Amino acid sequence: MNEATYDLLVIGAGPTGMACAIEAQRAGFSAVLVDKGCLCNSLFHYPAHMTFFTTPELLEIGDMPFSSPNQKPTRSEALEYYRKVAEHYSLDVRQYQTVERVEGSDGDFAVHTLDRFGRASTHRVRKLVVATGYYDLPNYLSIPGESLSKVKHYYHEPHPYFGLDVLVIGGKNSAAIAALDLWRHGARVTVAYRGAEMQPHVKYWILPDINNRIKNGEIKAYFNSTVAQITEDDVTLATPAGPVSLPNHFVFALIGYHPDFGFIERLGVKLDEANDRCPVCDPATLESNVPGIYLAGVIVAGERTNEIFIENGRFHGKLIAEDLKRKLKL
Ligand code: NAP
Repeated sequence: MNEATYDLLVIGAGPTGMACAIEAQRAGFSAVLVDKGCLCNSLFHYPAHMTFFTTPELLEIGDMPFSSPNQKPTRSEALEYYRKVAEHYSLDVRQYQTVERVEGSDGDFAVHTLDRFGRASTHRVRKLVVATGYYDLPNYLSIPGESLSKVKHYYHEPHPYFGLDVLVIGGKNSAAIAALDLWRHGARVTVAYRGAEMQPHVKYWILPDINNRIKNGEIKAYFNSTVAQITEDDVTLATPAGPVSLPNHFVFALIGYHPDFGFIERLGVKLDEANDRCPVCDPATLESNVPGIYLAGVIVAGERTNEIFIENGRFHGKLIAEDLKRKLKL
């Protein structure tokens, strides 16, 4: 099916992508968003009862106030807020549409998508923004047993793990939060981390909690340790004292995520291998080496996924809209 022509198509309907569409619309351009999941798909897949590390006003887009009774808003408040923003700005969001390929060039791109049932659409657009985030692709350990269904790379909620032996791999925020939540809801939790102690940059209100649980023996931790093998019924750790085998029902490998570099490269955007695979783009406009294709959000920082968050990525839309005003005639 051939869709109407738009000035701008944004790939990725998270807060950053939404901000790009809003700023383009405010500048007088037509915009459409496509996402292979739902609106704010990454936020949706965060832990169910997650609390943000930041205050509501730093998550605001489109100058719409985000009011919350909490100093730090929750995931469900944020989802509610971004749904309201999408409604307020009448954003044209095509959910559950995966971009298969992009043809054409600046001023006339053809974006080919497939829906959940494999049905194809083509969107004709003048400019393109890639705001695909980094949460879709987990980092892997590449160890035997990692492909077993009991190994998870996302933590959602504790109930299914009540009374079971759970290993959490990693030493930063996601691992600490999941380990505490699992333990508080009746799982027997072991943490395995390659560092000598929980990473000191874990948020200051979480770090003493996890450290005290470990000190009290309520959560067992193996530091300077890696996971050598996972089987249906146990895990084997490589520890400074030698191999340790533990009974195990589930594993959470919370070892970070990375952008879809392959997708970015298939668009013709170059990655700067000497600079943490940052996509080549003009920092003033965020236009990439491919004229008419812009980058927004965390992907701008390549492998440095702890540099750009909603709090700063939300301003990318304004930079891009300014460039659209210079380059696109209304
Ligand atoms: P992360 O910060 O990237 O931490 C990954 C952890 O996995 C690190 O401890 C790392 O070890 C370890 N690791 C990486 N590769 C490994 C490997 N091959 N083998 C063994 N261990 C490995 O990931 P994250 O904790 O999921 O956090 C991702 C982002 O989300 C961060 O920006 C974080 O602040 C944010 N976050 C926000 C919230 C919230 O807003 N409420 C909650 C959780 C996370 P090293 O420490 O040795 O590098």
